[in-house]
Amino acid sequence: MKAIRGATTVACDCAEEVRGAVAELLINIKKVNNLADGQIICIMFSNTADIRSYYPAKAAREAGFSDVALYSSLEPIIEGSLEKCIRVMMLVESDDPVKHIYLRGAKVLRKDLTAVVNIALDGPAGSGKSTISRLIAKKMNILCLDTGAMYRACALKCVREGVAVTDERAVAGIMQNLNLKVEYCGGVQKTLLDGDDVSGEIRKNEISMLASTVSVLDCVRSKMVELQREIAKSTSCILDGRDIGSNVLPDARFKFFLTASPEVRAKRRYSELKNKGFVVDFEELKSEIIKRDEQDANRKNAPLKMADDAVLVDSSDMSVEEVAAFIQNKIQEKI
Ligand code: C5P
Repeated sequence: MKAIRGATTVACDCAEEVRGAVAELLINIKKVNNLADGQIICIMFSNTADIRSYYPAKAAREAGFSDVALYSSLEPIIEGSLEKCIRVMMLVESDDPVKHIYLRGAKVLRKDLTAVVNIALDGPAGSGKSTISRLIAKKMNILCLDTGAMYRACALKCVREGVAVTDERAVAGIMQNLNLKVEYCGGVQKTLLDGDDVSGEIRKNEISMLASTVSVLDCVRSKMVELQREIAKSTSCILDGRDIGSNVLPDARFKFFLTASPEVRAKRRYSELKNKGFVVDFEELKSEIIKRDEQDANRKNAPLKMADDAVLVDSSDMSVEEVAAFIQNKIQEKI
């Protein structure tokens, strides 16, 4: 269950005005959040004490929201109270991030709900970035963008086209017409290549090293960084990668660098791959991870690097929940 906040104001205290403002607010919330009637559990209103001509709940019923529980209350008048304002909290059944709606100049009291917040989570292979970012995104009701998946999709495209990931000229040609999209279904990222869902295929171990090699190329990085910035511009999200805090979003409000010893990281990747049914040799995987880190950290263009203003988190001896709680507390302290 999720809560959507919203507010609107009325020009005068009369029934007609309240009816219009409430209907506009609710229809907007429903449309922007793409909600079906059955998803709405209840709607609660509170209005400032200078509105006495009509119940917002009654206006909601008249606007067609008749099958959900409705409730109205009056806010106390205290110093600094807003004027002629109707606030709403709508509880909905949804897995997707929700958008809060403020109309007719209504003030946003909780700025963190509406501002675009970007969180950069960088770190080496197997440090737990994807797991942690998915968890935090869920808790904060924001999107999570796995940028590694995008480089993996570039590598897969080269494999499908029979192009060597080191052949810069041929890869540049592929980049020009690359059909790569990131979609979300129930809050889970789907990576689409030429319309195909390749989210599972790009996780294969042989794609990991190819992704690292192809991501060295300027033509690949510039294209991916452009896509990542475009997504982050309009949507609150946590982006996990190698260069988010240092290069993609140097102005991100929150930056973390997650790491762990190579042994621990190799163990995590090993169980992740094993759980997905892939057969891998542990020692081989460990040396591959070390080699990939070296390649990622030593490339010229946007290497794997901790941004100067990032918070370092060594998760070697921490559980997933402990890491997520640590990061979330750091974020809450600043919001
Ligand atoms: O995180 P993941 O292991 O899926 O990333 C695969 C490869 O993609 C990395 O080894 C790295 O070379 C590249 N990558 C990158 N910049 C990012 C994310 C991933 O260069 N922001």
